[in-house]
Amino acid sequence: MRYISTRGQAPALSFEEVVLTGMASDGGLYVPEEVPTLSHDDLADMAGLSYAEIAFRVMKPYVNGEIDDATFRGIVEEAYATFSHDAVVPLNQLDANHFLLELFHGPTLAFKDVALQLLGRILDHFLQKRGERAVIMGATSGDTGSAAIEGCRHCDNLDIFILHPHQRVSEVQRRQMTTVLANNVFNVAIEGNFDDAQAMVKASFADQGFLNGTRLVAVNSINWARIMAQIVYYVASAVALGAPQRQVSFCVPSANFGNVFAGYMAKRMGLPVKQFIIATNANDILHRTLADNDFSKQELVATLAPSMDIVVSSNFERLLFEAYERDGAAVKALLERFQAEPTALAEAPLARLRESFASHSVDDATILEVIREAHHRTQEVLDPHTATGYRAAERERADATTPVITLATAHPAKFADAVVKAGFPGVPLPPHMDDLLECEERYTVLPAELAEVQKFVAENRR
Ligand SMILES: *Cc1c(COP(=O)(O)O)cnc(C)c1O
Repeated sequence: MRYISTRGQAPALSFEEVVLTGMASDGGLYVPEEVPTLSHDDLADMAGLSYAEIAFRVMKPYVNGEIDDATFRGIVEEAYATFSHDAVVPLNQLDANHFLLELFHGPTLAFKDVALQLLGRILDHFLQKRGERAVIMGATSGDTGSAAIEGCRHCDNLDIFILHPHQRVSEVQRRQMTTVLANNVFNVAIEGNFDDAQAMVKASFADQGFLNGTRLVAVNSINWARIMAQIVYYVASAVALGAPQRQVSFCVPSANFGNVFAGYMAKRMGLPVKQFIIATNANDILHRTLADNDFSKQELVATLAPSMDIVVSSNFERLLFEAYERDGAAVKALLERFQAEPTALAEAPLARLRESFASHSVDDATILEVIREAHHRTQEVLDPHTATGYRAAERERADATTPVITLATAHPAKFADAVVKAGFPGVPLPPHMDDLLECEERYTVLPAELAEVQKFVAENRR
């Protein structure tokens, strides 16, 4: 198994190389050259297995023997032992045929833990084998930073530097990052906004000279291993509800499209999925593209579901590559046009997308209404991201008899502001996080100046 770029011009890479590389040299994203298959029997045999065992079986072909089976199994088991629920990602029934897949039982209470707990350990394994060290740099407006830190805090061969905008992330989100006192974790509060922080990370990847040859690694959702890890819960939940004998549908609160693309991969592998429903907040580029063929950027809107506030969906490129029948030149041309001006997809690729995907956009007022309505009907308090999915699933599902699984991407305690706005007294943090607001914090405040930030990274990496 090799990995190829969606723009067709970068060299094909092995799994190890692709995990250590991030973006392809031609500006594209890596995808597997062939999609491995899960036969009817493979799926049937998964009934009743543990999450870690299903994860091992689903991911094994992508790892391609580059980590031996016993070691990989150990990595997978360790990654998912950090979750506080024995099912790792339990299904919760809402009505006769609507289910929530709770992806928020990891260390930082959001679904990004599922991929980052695994990615940190895989990176550490490959670096150890090569006798190398690497630096991770990332910018965060909240969620991704803490999940990346939790995923790397035990990794001997990695130092992680996460930049967040000073005094512009919520206290819970800041503390989830800054109370991790491991000696390979560095939190930097930038005196600027998120875009300033992100621009400095991008500039550092573009010119890595300040690290004197040490590798810089990206753990954002363009890293293939994150997609790979997320394929697993689509398979595990569908099997729990009767696959391969029974079809299911999925509804996915979406932003950068990494999560729902993983679902699409599960379908391509052979999982019987009837329909994917993409839920967006007011930042609705995915919905506009699918519903109106309006593939254009719009101003960023700050919403009650902030982890879905995006202008461009980076992983959508991976789906476009499939919709354009793996014509890298066509994808490159389309995305170059998109960067310059509003554009549209060609008819045949759009029709292919519409065979598998429906979409729905949910504004802030509706998010609050849905949190109240879902509680009234089911006693569940949804987080605002999951609320977009709940509404989209009810509105867009193709039929009432196929079970629909809405992905619950965050714990409501993590986004208590929206829950309070909806009229609830607030949501307590789970017991294992009781002391978050008292723990010691450590972070460094730096001006929004590239040279200062790079000096800090170069001096503090081990
Ligand atoms: C990151 C995130 C999303 C969006 O996921 P994508 O893979 O970017 O589409 C949705 N909800 C929450 C809570 C998130 O943290």
